[in-house]
Amino acid sequence: MRAGAGCAIHDAKPEVCRQFFCQWMLNPALPRKFRPDVSKVILMAGGDEANPQLAASCDPSNALAWRREPIYGFLKHQARAAPGGLVVMAFAGRRTWLLLPDEDRYLGEAPEGQVFRVDQHADGRIDVHLVAAG
Ligand code: SF4
Repeated sequence: MRAGAGCAIHDAKPEVCRQFFCQWMLNPALPRKFRPDVSKVILMAGGDEANPQLAASCDPSNALAWRREPIYGFLKHQARAAPGGLVVMAFAGRRTWLLLPDEDRYLGEAPEGQVFRVDQHADGRIDVHLVAAG
């Protein structure tokens, strides 16, 4: 872990960061351009064993920060590396995108108190549904 090497907001520990460490903190291989206060994107691993997820969380005022390089190339690489496995998503507030190997799909704005859950199956099927935010 990059103890003491968080982004500029690390000492303030924003709400989203109180429960866990972002990928910038956990993955020492990521270059400085991935630092959240530089990229404007917080990369987070999540989901569950059946549906592991990589999420790119952006500030709503910078909603498409996930589309800038090198973040975008990294996300697409992850999506291509594990088709049917890792679910790669981007968020800006409640606006949600699903990144697939050859397509970026805007899922829409999740209603208050809900989030999109994506289940990718080994045969390529994708189920998208709303679940209570937890
Ligand atoms: S985004 Fe990452 S580095 Fe910044 S405060 Fe949150 S956990 Fe720390």
